[in-house]
Amino acid sequence: MPSIGLMGGTFDPIHLGHLVAADAARHALGLERVIFVPAGQPPHKAGRDITPAEHRFAMTLLATLDHPAFEVSRAELDRPAPSYTIDTLRQFRAAHPDADLWFITGADAILEILTWREPQELLAHARFVAATRPGYPLRRLQAVQEALGPASRERIRILEVPALAIASRDLRERVRTGRPIRYLVPREVEAYIHKMGLYRESAAAGGAAPAVRP
Ligand code: ATP
Ligand code: MG
Repeated sequence: MPSIGLMGGTFDPIHLGHLVAADAARHALGLERVIFVPAGQPPHKAGRDITPAEHRFAMTLLATLDHPAFEVSRAELDRPAPSYTIDTLRQFRAAHPDADLWFITGADAILEILTWREPQELLAHARFVAATRPGYPLRRLQAVQEALGPASRERIRILEVPALAIASRDLRERVRTGRPIRYLVPREVEAYIHKMGLYRESAAAGGAAPAVRP
């Protein structure tokens, strides 16, 4: 039975916290592949300007290039917005009916699962693994699981990962104010951000798509 991990996120930008959580889950669960799924227009982030999807996709590709088990999916980018995780899980479940599917999140995301569309259905399509994340204690998880029903207990697993207090929001702010992001994101992602002028004060939501123009 193929075992597949799906790592959803806005990845604006992708950082070492995402990569460490994904690789820890791959190792702990014996996953053959971890597929990163950058969100199109995430419903819960509608309030702020999200960097154009093609930039976030390109950074996710660059960040995962050297890991043989990591892949990047365009599933949510090629679907009309907004992107709901339940639609993504249905799509992957249909494509891999026999797979052991795991959806990888951080502690903050799992605590919000009740606000996602069709939370019970989500757990029916995949098991969830919640990576620990500094600043988001998981003691509220029990209450969340009670609200989801008894079956959810076996469907959500907590995974202790090396603590990395890195957040995309902080990285965007660092770039905007000229502070370093080195060692917080892969070198290639740092280079891409600077080359494309992402997250600068003047950058209008990240500027143009990454295509090279004459
Ligand atoms: P933002 O600050 O814009 O919300 P973020 O750093 O939280 O960005 P997301 O793209 O929102 O990144 O997160 C994608 C997934 O990765 C979520 O499930 C989130 O919980 C998890 N995650 C993000 N950063 C970490 C981290 N440092 N440690 C563990 N999990 C993380
Ligand atoms: Mg987040």
